[in-house]
Amino acid sequence: MKMLLHICCAPCAVPIVERFLPEQGMELAGLYFNPNIHPKEEFDKRKGAVLTMAEDYGVPVSVNELNMLDYWRDSLPADKSKRCIYCYSVRLEEAARYASEYGYDVFTTSLLISPYQDHELIASMGEKAALRHGVRFHYEDFRPLYRKGKELARGKQWYIQKYCGCFFSYTESDHPKKPIYFTENEL
Ligand code: SF4
Repeated sequence: MKMLLHICCAPCAVPIVERFLPEQGMELAGLYFNPNIHPKEEFDKRKGAVLTMAEDYGVPVSVNELNMLDYWRDSLPADKSKRCIYCYSVRLEEAARYASEYGYDVFTTSLLISPYQDHELIASMGEKAALRHGVRFHYEDFRPLYRKGKELARGKQWYIQKYCGCFFSYTESDHPKKPIYFTENEL
């Protein structure tokens, strides 16, 4: 069976890779697709960690470099309930389309590991995207693996992000170790 894992970041993806790799007959590949990670420098840091993971585990990972940063900052409502729905839909739609185009039997997403996202909504949007593209969506509650992913990434010294990803989440985050990408006037 060919499975595509949509990857948002290495710490979220790695325990899922470990979960599926030992399965007999499973051909696992990844798609790093994160079009709103702000700024580009942060996108590249997360991509670097994903590519290191891919090499460490011998899993092929494709990278989609689509950049929607200006659109995200200038055209979307800042309201979290609205912008996050769009964020999930863009990722899941592209993952389903890619899985269908490249002959995968099934796809899933590392978004299902996060206890901070709307898990049920992601599951239902994944199912709908799969139907639209004629592939299967693998739903699984990966949330019990969340902490393990962080520990693995820390142990391997991969980059671990300090905010969700988009411009809004960067400005909202009060994480003490958040990287400084902008001056006050640029925000
Ligand atoms: S807060 Fe996170 S899930 Fe919501 S739109 Fe921003 S990056 Fe996407």
